[in-house]
Amino acid sequence: MDWLLALVLVWGSLTTAADEHAQAAAAKAALIAQMEASMYGGANQAESIVNADWALMPESVYQGDVALVRSQTGGTVQWADIEYTLQPFGNGYYTFLPIPVDMKPGQYTIGSRQLTVLDQSFATQYLKVTKKQEQMRRNYDTIKKDQIKINKARSASAPTFLFKEVFVVPVEGKLTTPYGYTRFVNGVFSGSHRAIDLAAPTGTKVVAANDGKVVLADSLYLTGNTIYLDHGMNLFSQYAHLSEIWVKSGEQVKAGQTIGLVGSTGFSTGPHLHFTFFIGNIPVNPNVFFNTTPFRWQKQK
Ligand SMILES: [Zn+2]
Repeated sequence: MDWLLALVLVWGSLTTAADEHAQAAAAKAALIAQMEASMYGGANQAESIVNADWALMPESVYQGDVALVRSQTGGTVQWADIEYTLQPFGNGYYTFLPIPVDMKPGQYTIGSRQLTVLDQSFATQYLKVTKKQEQMRRNYDTIKKDQIKINKARSASAPTFLFKEVFVVPVEGKLTTPYGYTRFVNGVFSGSHRAIDLAAPTGTKVVAANDGKVVLADSLYLTGNTIYLDHGMNLFSQYAHLSEIWVKSGEQVKAGQTIGLVGSTGFSTGPHLHFTFFIGNIPVNPNVFFNTTPFRWQKQK
């Protein structure tokens, strides 16, 4: 073979390989961008967010709510005495920020954006329980042991969003205690109720609020039969006082899948589901999740 022809052939195959490599990389980048964009409410919303240096979803929140932050670059966000690491997802970096119930209303700088915290006036609830139930709450050793188990379950979360679709209400029931109620039990202040209580007959099916992984399914002292699901990126949901648990720790669950039955186990005055979300160990308002996803928390309140 003529050496020049051979060289041309080799050169040709090299450039083809390089082109193919570039094409594969471009196709992969397009898929990653598409996967991230598909989480948003529409093409316009996705485009405006993924092109911004920082985005807050939403830009104004009430005390006790939660915001999702996106940044073009990785790093950490210092927020209410805790450091949150921005985790890579798609072409950006994300973290949830829980808003403490007692955070001072006002404007807070997150990257290049301003997060507005609005005042939420929480109501007060006076609860009467029997002496025996009141005694239950003083079993500090058992309560502490459970708390170690719970914190361990919430200490590791999948480094990606495990859900795609909207969050669903886990049980059809009557709202008996709204989120954030300041509670007095037998006249004594007992903190704020950072969950919702949905009353329903014992045995009513309780479903997973969204896709996720069971990180705890156990009988606990105060919250009775309890399930914690990890939805990824430090977001967990909690289902308490169940009469039955239908899942095991480590199991993957789908949105709407029955995971247990309503009950009145633990510190409870009647059959109901005590339900909430956590960012790490901080409870946040579950109502902001229902029928939407954090990626669509766009509307200004
Ligand atoms: Zn409750």
